[in-house]
Amino acid sequence: MYSNTYIGRGISRALLYVASLAAGAATAYATSPHASLGAGARVDAASAAPKARARPTAPTAPSVGATAAAAAAAPSVAPHLPEVAAVEPIPEPEAEAWDGLGAALRGGKIITGSTPHRLVLFTFDDGPDRRTTPLLLDRLDDEGIKAIFFLVGSRIAGTNSMERQQAAIAREIVRRGHLVGNHTIDHVQLPLLDDEAVRAELTGAETIFERVLGGRPWLFRPPFGAHSQRIDQHLASRGYTTVLWNLGSGDFQVRSAEEVFDTWLKVFERREREEGERGGIILLHDTYAWSVDAFQLIVTHLQQRNCELLREGQELYDIIDDPAPFFVPRDGESAEAEAPPAELDSRTLAARQQQLADLTERRCRSLASL
Ligand SMILES: [Zn+2]
Repeated sequence: MYSNTYIGRGISRALLYVASLAAGAATAYATSPHASLGAGARVDAASAAPKARARPTAPTAPSVGATAAAAAAAPSVAPHLPEVAAVEPIPEPEAEAWDGLGAALRGGKIITGSTPHRLVLFTFDDGPDRRTTPLLLDRLDDEGIKAIFFLVGSRIAGTNSMERQQAAIAREIVRRGHLVGNHTIDHVQLPLLDDEAVRAELTGAETIFERVLGGRPWLFRPPFGAHSQRIDQHLASRGYTTVLWNLGSGDFQVRSAEEVFDTWLKVFERREREEGERGGIILLHDTYAWSVDAFQLIVTHLQQRNCELLREGQELYDIIDDPAPFFVPRDGESAEAEAPPAELDSRTLAARQQQLADLTERRCRSLASL
């Protein structure tokens, strides 16, 4: 039986593994790469991680119906109990709340998505959208994939019923274990604004996030990718890590999932051929139905490629669930400093690849037997 616990809790946890190995304290959970290339990436709770930084993996709140049922099942009259001294119950260790606002990734160099490894991270911009984002969230759950959503503040400001619905979707995004980032209030090209207006776009969005999600975000994506030395300085002064992308899809220019997929594939193959970048950060928009379908096409493509790569004994595509491998603290370097290509240390990479190979083998075998 599968639990709701994912095999891994992201790269950060895989990196913890290396630290724990060094300390001679390897634990079973830590050997598990995220390996989110499919539902097979779930393991039994017995071998799962201690929930230090529990990342939600599926809806966990009891439904109204369940709560009502529990209440109905409770005896309405308290049974007679012998009088004993009250014993303080020992509290369950509280799982630390999921850091969906990316506080652990604050103050980093600009992330470009460049990597020589087959590490792939999905990002979705411009939402949430009440028509398309809920379906995408279900698809992500089905595939066991975590993503980053760069939200537009005005969509969740809560001044009308649509925005209130979208604010609820924003909370659902975090509840399901994804990261959210700031994409300004009004989706404006920041370099066109004066300093005061730039500050207003950043801090105004932060205020909206605080109201809707209980905190400000620490990841930022500039609308249209437009930034400059001046904008980078604003972002750095607010502690942001800017997340760009190297795998665009042109989904805002077309009307079908196939067109999005074809463009993405061309970019993906060209990046490898011309830049030696075998993975990176994918940009899609969760505001288009065709992008939700294109997400599925991309995942299927990577899974099929993995069947071939496994036969050839090559590195497999590893869909990661946070940008930790791309993250480098700025540490006093200039605001516009770019992070170097994302690397994983060889031991973590080998452990993740091994786990991924096992899952891929099972999947490809079952695909072949269909
Ligand atoms: Zn955008």
